[in-house]
Amino acid sequence: MSGIPLAALVRAVPDFPKPGIVFRDVGPLLADAAAFEAAIAGMCAPWRRAAPEYVCGIESRGFIFGAAMARALGCGFAPIRKPGKLPGPVLVQGYSLEYGEDRLELQKDALPLGARVLLVDDVLATGGTLLAAAALLEQAGARLCGASVLIELSALGGRGRWATSAPLESVLRF
Ligand code: AMP
Repeated sequence: MSGIPLAALVRAVPDFPKPGIVFRDVGPLLADAAAFEAAIAGMCAPWRRAAPEYVCGIESRGFIFGAAMARALGCGFAPIRKPGKLPGPVLVQGYSLEYGEDRLELQKDALPLGARVLLVDDVLATGGTLLAAAALLEQAGARLCGASVLIELSALGGRGRWATSAPLESVLRF
């Protein structure tokens, strides 16, 4: 690793966006060029041998890390977005939130059949978002190399919900 104290550049914001949530704000890390570079290097390191062809970043902070990783790994990038943002036709995957439901979408022609894909997001919390994104990639006929997050919130059990055989890698654990 770089020796840069990345964890110190993730700000914990209590009660945001709602009471009881400790929001992990990656703003200070992104604003520090050397830290951002080290974070991307740390996220990319486990995947060099897996040789993904595409990175799929999950809206919206997954776009920031995912696009930088795609450049570093020499991959194409495809966004996985919230409903209604992508011009169709799209594949849709629903998933449950603490209160209610949400959906993720991917353009049908974003990936060739059988493409080797790495999923990327900033934070793994309960794991519902990443699991829904993996299901979307299955619908697309992609081959999942694995998933990469900068931050894993260990107490929320997301790793336990990651019910695929593909590896899940994190750089920081809180
Ligand atoms: P989950 O589906 O519960 O694993 O939530 C992961 C998604 O919600 C990611 O896209 C994160 O950006 C966001 N998220 C969840 N919890 C937090 C948190 N405490 N701080 C920052 N982002 C979070």
